[in-house]
Amino acid sequence: MENYYDILIIGGGAAGFFTAINAAEALPNKRIAILEKAKEGLNKVKISGGGRCNVTHAEFLPRPLTTNYPRGEKELLGPFHKFMTGDTFAWFEERGVPLHIEEDGRAFPVTNSSQTIIDCFLHEANKHGVQCFYQSNVTKVIPQNDNWEVHTSKEIYHTSNLVIATGSSPKVWRMLNKMDCDIVDPVPSLFTFHCNDSRLQELQGLSTDVFVSVLDENQKSILDSSGPLLVTHWGMSGPAILKLSAWGARELFAKDYKFKIKINWIPQYNPESVIEVLQQLQSIEAKKKCFNTTAFDLPKRLWRRLLQAANMEEQRWADVSKAQMQDFIKELTQGIYVIDGKSTYKDEFVTAGGVALKQINFKNFTSRKHSGLYFAGEVLDVDAITGGFNFQHAWTSGYLVAQDLINKLGNKSQ
Ligand SMILES: Cc1cc2nc3c(=O)[nH]c(=O)nc-3n(C[C@H](O)[C@H](O)[C@H](O)COP(=O)(O)OP(=O)(O)OC[C@H]3O[C@@H](n4cnc5c(N)ncnc54)[C@H](O)[C@@H]3O)c2cc1C
Repeated sequence: MENYYDILIIGGGAAGFFTAINAAEALPNKRIAILEKAKEGLNKVKISGGGRCNVTHAEFLPRPLTTNYPRGEKELLGPFHKFMTGDTFAWFEERGVPLHIEEDGRAFPVTNSSQTIIDCFLHEANKHGVQCFYQSNVTKVIPQNDNWEVHTSKEIYHTSNLVIATGSSPKVWRMLNKMDCDIVDPVPSLFTFHCNDSRLQELQGLSTDVFVSVLDENQKSILDSSGPLLVTHWGMSGPAILKLSAWGARELFAKDYKFKIKINWIPQYNPESVIEVLQQLQSIEAKKKCFNTTAFDLPKRLWRRLLQAANMEEQRWADVSKAQMQDFIKELTQGIYVIDGKSTYKDEFVTAGGVALKQINFKNFTSRKHSGLYFAGEVLDVDAITGGFNFQHAWTSGYLVAQDLINKLGNKSQ
């Protein structure tokens, strides 16, 4: 058959290359090709992690690793038992790309350059005879008995093993939908919050550990997270906020990104100890103005803003009334902030949504509806919080697709 490939991969990104290389290494006599619409592949790898490529994360147990995936948590447990972070470290190391771990657990190539990952992939793909066809935008896929006919603007290809690794491409999702694949509507994940609150004015750059909750119309918490909150000139970012944006991707989209949050700026203190610390301040620092003292290890600028909010800034501790103290405790532990929009998180942005997980067999990332159809990477309705987890999913899914293809094609006469 003309233009026949044993394995045809649509999408030359992280997942597509990882699938191709792993399959090609074990199947030297099979024809394997990648169809990539851009002039070159791996464009997202290039810009990832601020140009350093946060390849994976130093979490080496499958179950805790899954808790970083708002979509895919349950489904990825099995796959992670077969290929996860430790395997990623070994895979790159074996191919001459050692990784190093930063304090927060993120892993990067020791060169701190995403180009190292790209060079490794291009070298391995070339070494094992993977054919890469660039500027090959796939516009149509037609199932034909046991085969697939794949149309680009230039050519028609045939294969019996089709891997879709096209990332977050609405066009491909529409195409798949026409082939009877269920698609979960895409919405943004990993974004920062707009907040124009006077309490945050001139605090840009300040970062502190918080416990933060998203509130519903009845002021009840519907979602919470903890960790560092970074004040930006447009509102809030940092891990605590990004986690809320990922776990709440659908709920916050439904609210058009207009909602209230409650912040506990001193989550390490229980209510009794908060009162105790403030009573001590009142007795020991009685004559001092409130803003001339600090407590709870809060950054001074934030402490001052919260005092202002409780109208206590210029007062001496001795003159603070009970009501003011209550207001201040509220500001410290239950401050309400109005969020009125979102911004893209520039270091990493992903989409929640994609091919619905119920139709995927997670043993090998095959479609339950069509034989010979595989999915790898972000095309699936899987996404993670920031930290290297999105790439880990691309590696895990790509690896398991390749293993299934190796089992399937390896025994057949070459
Ligand atoms: C700015 C930024 C920084 C990021 N940094 C990190 C990070 O440091 N760590 C991390 O874990 N994650 C990071 N991510 C997320 C990560 O990049 C993605 O999760 C990952 O690239 C998904 O891999 P993929 O192969 O599934 O999709 P992609 O990398 O998006 O690759 C899909 C490929 O398919 C091609 N394609 C699409 N449609 C067609 C078609 N019709 N025909 C042919 N080809 C097609 C595309 O051109 C693309 O090359 C970042 C994302 C962004 C945007």
